[in-house]
Amino acid sequence: MNTDFFEKLSLCKPILSALSQVGYQEPTPIQRAAIPLALAGKDLLATAQTGTGKTAGFALPMLHLLHKRAAASGKGLRALILTPTRELALQIDESLKEYGRNLSLRTAVVLGGVPAGPQIRALQRKPDILVATPGRLLDLMGQGHLRLNQIEILVLDEADRMLDMGFAPDVRRIVAEVPKDRQTMLFSATMSPAIAQLASNMLRNPSRVEVTPAASVSSNIEQQVLFVNQKDKRDLLTSILKNRGIQRALVFTRTKHGADRVVRHLSSRGISADAIHSNKSQNARQRALATFDRGKTQVLVATDIVSRGIDVDGISHVINYEMPGDPESYVHRIGRTARAGAAGIAMSFCDAQEVSLLRGIEKLTNSPLTAFNDHPYHCDVTASLRTRGPAPRNSGRPVRSQKRRAFRPKHPMAKRGRVA
Ligand code: AMP
Repeated sequence: MNTDFFEKLSLCKPILSALSQVGYQEPTPIQRAAIPLALAGKDLLATAQTGTGKTAGFALPMLHLLHKRAAASGKGLRALILTPTRELALQIDESLKEYGRNLSLRTAVVLGGVPAGPQIRALQRKPDILVATPGRLLDLMGQGHLRLNQIEILVLDEADRMLDMGFAPDVRRIVAEVPKDRQTMLFSATMSPAIAQLASNMLRNPSRVEVTPAASVSSNIEQQVLFVNQKDKRDLLTSILKNRGIQRALVFTRTKHGADRVVRHLSSRGISADAIHSNKSQNARQRALATFDRGKTQVLVATDIVSRGIDVDGISHVINYEMPGDPESYVHRIGRTARAGAAGIAMSFCDAQEVSLLRGIEKLTNSPLTAFNDHPYHCDVTASLRTRGPAPRNSGRPVRSQKRRAFRPKHPMAKRGRVA
């Protein structure tokens, strides 16, 4: 089948016109591969990295099939999409509304962290499609607000993240309530033995869709590593944000407190920044995302748990202020830039203790990061560990050339010999 155009994918007219209204000209590779199989009613096991257009990969055939099959009136929920994070759930719902704007299918979202009342009322309006995070879905099921016994299509999105976040038991309980005679699509950015196990329990003779090798990184992302001592990272971040005319950067820290500290530091240096992590209320997270999206804040500081829910166009730089604890998270983090074909830069700040994490990333992605040494806080000792082996204890002070030292921006604490 020629799958170069949406028209060739046998999607119904109302969906095709919605796609042209949202400005999609041609399907992405995951859409080309997944849509015909899903339209044929097959179960899917798909490996797709984030930012590849995988949402439309399952949403378009789902909308088409539900539209064509026309529910017996008042039939109730016919499709369920399970996602790990609240942000992702909201984005999927938004995409469904966009792609289904010319159809009469109803969608609803249930997610934790916000009052359940409006979600219960939305369920009473008998939606066809439900997007849900596992915890709140189970709560509402337990209270008798919904049943899954009419579900025809089940999607598990970002299944690897769902397992990482400890949702496996919840997912199993939910899937047990869905009729066995259904179509199931499982999407995951990485394919681990745990995902294969989940798939073998939940899918029937699935078609395997793999448009990019597991954990591969978009070639549009320039990946740099900057060797720096931990104590200099704050100044390095300020200097990069100020000196490179960066309009929209996403910064990752490993901990929530670390994220808050970075925000306080940037704000004290006159750089507008906000944090998004799981200690923040859902409303605060949405607000932070919206102001970042509108360009009102220059920097959003996030932790890994929320990284996948950040679908903001035009993020030119992802900065790993701290290297992620596992290499897969690196792939997810940097996938926030260079979305839908744009170019992006990913910078990773690496101190002596993090060199082994760097090696893990390079092994997983099978591509070495380019060392960017021409910055005022470059640490030669750390850089040399990359090739030399494990970090020695107290691995030394930065070795800076006189020329580089001259570039170091002055700031009042530095004058007094303190490190900011
Ligand atoms: P996703 O991987 O589903 O999160 O999609 C990443 C981004 O690509 C989203 O902003 C989508 O709106 C956009 N997108 C998805 N499919 C297409 C397409 N065929 N053409 C242009 N943009 C797309």
